[in-house]
Amino acid sequence: MNTNSQYPGHVDFLIVGAGFAGAVLAERLASQCGKTCLIIDRRDHIAGNAHDRYDEAGVLIHQYGPHYFRSNSERIVEYLSQFTGWHPVEYQILCRVDGRDWQFPINLNTFEQLIGRPSTTEEMEATLAEWRIPIEKPANSEEVIISQVGWKLYEMFFKNYTRKQWKRDPKDLDASVCGRIPIRTNRDNRYLAEKFQALPKDGYTAMFERILDHPNIHLRLNTAFDAATGQLVPGDSRNSSPDSAIRNPQSAIPLSYGHLIFTGMIDEYYDFRFGPLPYRSLRFEPETLQQEFFQPAMQVNYPNDHDFTRIVEIKHATGQKLPVTTIVREYPEDFGPGKEPYYPIPAPDAKAIYDQYAALAEREEKVSFVGRLATYRYYNMDQVVGMALTEFEKLRGKS
Ligand SMILES: Cc1cc2nc3c(=O)[nH]c(=O)nc-3n(C[C@H](O)[C@H](O)[C@H](O)COP(=O)(O)OP(=O)(O)OC[C@H]3O[C@@H](n4cnc5c(N)ncnc54)[C@H](O)[C@@H]3O)c2cc1C
Repeated sequence: MNTNSQYPGHVDFLIVGAGFAGAVLAERLASQCGKTCLIIDRRDHIAGNAHDRYDEAGVLIHQYGPHYFRSNSERIVEYLSQFTGWHPVEYQILCRVDGRDWQFPINLNTFEQLIGRPSTTEEMEATLAEWRIPIEKPANSEEVIISQVGWKLYEMFFKNYTRKQWKRDPKDLDASVCGRIPIRTNRDNRYLAEKFQALPKDGYTAMFERILDHPNIHLRLNTAFDAATGQLVPGDSRNSSPDSAIRNPQSAIPLSYGHLIFTGMIDEYYDFRFGPLPYRSLRFEPETLQQEFFQPAMQVNYPNDHDFTRIVEIKHATGQKLPVTTIVREYPEDFGPGKEPYYPIPAPDAKAIYDQYAALAEREEKVSFVGRLATYRYYNMDQVVGMALTEFEKLRGKS
């Protein structure tokens, strides 16, 4: 990876965004096709929203919320394994409701907590069959849950959490939002269902450093792509991490490239001409405590109380051994000036706006839109890696 002092003036690819989408494409194009790439990011660090760092107490934290890597794709795990070893984790979370910690996602253990005695899969299935509201094709997030577990469990665990997180009623969100969460009648306490569940052994940022470590890849941080002018401009410091290891000074640089890969907000790229797309933002409030652990699990959800949705203690997942711990409270917020667009909103009204931008994007010959913000999809990390690998094959075919 080269700093801007070695930037050659012309590159084959300008890549906007040093998250999974941008980094994977830079690596493939450089290592497989010998292409030169300039990758920029408006933040002062690499790894996008997956960025992790050691805080002042020495605790490895996920700066933009917990990132639980999981995948069912051997191809994607194999690809990333070139750049990292793995720390296997069974992600477990709890839900605090009425002052009590409930096993979550709902499973036989949750059911036993609810009825106050030991039970069986058969009994749970028979009970859910009575509670379920028959809906053949659930059309939204309320329907997808009540059609599996009925109103009571929906109201305990899903309704208010979803409203707090999205500031929308679950009825007004795609079925995929709540439908992502498994509902089980066995004792599997894992939060997620995918075959492979692990964190990069030395963290995400270390993995990205290795992905970008190629002489054809030039990195420029604190630098934004201004789509209105097509210029590189100073990035903002909205998310400066105080201990960022990689900093580049600002100076104007000549911009000459063959193809643009854009992984930022597609509405920003088109100067909001069809109106802004809606996003949800978050505020993270970290607190370091002089004790080994604060809570019994990596994540505790608070669906019905407080303004925050969850408290995350990532040390449970990273396996770091330290006498202190850092917890992070996560507060959902509106997106606006100075805020990060963390979540595209999976809802029909947002899709209608996105479709107009997507139609423009499809006509571009020298611009690729890749990643979560550029395709306005609520994708997980492995899906974004998959998308970048597919885009790479397309670009290789073209050249
Ligand atoms: C709170 C939260 C929790 C998550 N948890 C998980 C999880 O547990 N598991 C999972 O698999 N996924 C999770 N995700 C999703 C994961 O973050 C994304 O799938 C992944 O980061 C997408 O990578 P990307 O490259 O598309 O985008 P990003 O990581 O957002 O990277 C895009 C980069 O582009 C930069 N950029 C944008 N516009 C410009 C511009 N104009 N000029 C310069 N730079 C620009 C941004 O600064 C950013 O660094 C979570 C997301 C959030 C927000």
